[in-house]
Amino acid sequence: MTDGDRHGAIRDFGGLAGRAPRLIVRPASVVEVAALVRDAATTSTEVVARGCGHSSRGESLTDGVAVDMRGMATVHELSATHIVVGAGATWRGVLEATLPCGRMPPVLPDYLDLTVGGTLSAAGIGGASHIHGTQAANVIELEAVTARGEILTCSPTHRSQLFDALRSGMGRHGIITTATLRLIAAPERVLSCRAQYASAAELIAAQEKIGADHLSGQVKSSVFELKAVVYDQSRPPRGLCSIDVEELTFVEFADRLRPDVDKMIEVGEWDRPHPWGQVIVPAVHAAAFIEQTLSGTTEADIGLSGVILIKRFSPGPVPMLRAPSDAVLFALLRTASPGSKTAAQMVLANEQLYDRAHLVGGVPYPPIPEVTSAI
Ligand SMILES: Cc1cc2nc3c(=O)[nH]c(=O)nc-3n(C[C@H](O)[C@H](O)[C@H](O)COP(=O)(O)OP(=O)(O)OC[C@H]3O[C@@H](n4cnc5c(N)ncnc54)[C@H](O)[C@@H]3O)c2cc1C
Repeated sequence: MTDGDRHGAIRDFGGLAGRAPRLIVRPASVVEVAALVRDAATTSTEVVARGCGHSSRGESLTDGVAVDMRGMATVHELSATHIVVGAGATWRGVLEATLPCGRMPPVLPDYLDLTVGGTLSAAGIGGASHIHGTQAANVIELEAVTARGEILTCSPTHRSQLFDALRSGMGRHGIITTATLRLIAAPERVLSCRAQYASAAELIAAQEKIGADHLSGQVKSSVFELKAVVYDQSRPPRGLCSIDVEELTFVEFADRLRPDVDKMIEVGEWDRPHPWGQVIVPAVHAAAFIEQTLSGTTEADIGLSGVILIKRFSPGPVPMLRAPSDAVLFALLRTASPGSKTAAQMVLANEQLYDRAHLVGGVPYPPIPEVTSAI
């Protein structure tokens, strides 16, 4: 364990505020994590786990002890059915271990450079969540360090309360140190098809109707675009009027965001503030909610590299997410670019988005924990 002297302020992907931790540590074992949680408890110091820091509302920041989990990325066990991996491993690292055996986790995030502990703490919504639920719904077992510094394992049948508190708990109920994740067969190639719709209602209906292994939606210049991806098949999904079809290796498909991220870094958009506003709303209210929001949203509200996502999914048994069972993720992935609204105006718009979502039974994503203090 490093001592970590005094450091300057650190930021997250959101870039809205910085906080200067008293200590930054990068533990290499669960015993080290437990020791530092117990030490911090003696002085009532906040301890906050940090993966890649790609969350955007300051959730991974603290003035206390910042625990950089990326030192705990070891693959402990790998079989056809599961992988046991350190929570600081990225999904890229998980795939690098599983793909040579022809296996993969059922749900991958759009971007692979997020940690296992980070997305399980949010929930982890991916293109396959309409079939398999969130990533948090595909966990077999977790090892964690609790607020009292105990090292405990938990699963749906063993200490299930702790298991439910950790998944989608945003790190407020313990630090996940190891995760046992379900694996399924990985495809070698994919067929990625695009189709366009005139309204949110049609896009959301298509996401229910079209049978595909991966489904995601985006709003581009008032057009509602569906990406439907099938694994190891030569034909687009039945019933889809594709405007184009592309064949990719699975690795190219899984890492599809990398070129966009490289471009954002190159043009300076990656380092700008990202006041992302994301809500999960019941599918039955989603189209009206989205259309109403979009009618008051201009390019200046989203920024130069901003993206609007619409994804219908079933969260699975993840109580802390508090999401409806037939859900739609509506994500305004804003960048405070030059010439767009300011970051403060975007944050205000997000608060209004959360309030309006609440009125139709929706929730913010990632969740905003009710318990504000960390473990
Ligand atoms: C380009 C990009 C693409 C994204 N794509 C997706 C996507 O497809 N699906 C999706 O669901 N989200 C997506 N996100 C959002 C992202 O999943 C969440 O912000 C996620 O929490 C980030 O993971 P991280 O490793 O960076 O975690 P951090 O941002 O470091 O941490 C997030 C939260 O988890 C806690 N935490 C981190 N590690 C642990 C641990 N080991 N134990 C307990 N708590 C911990 C932190 O304290 C914090 O509260 C994306 C973000 C970006 C920037």
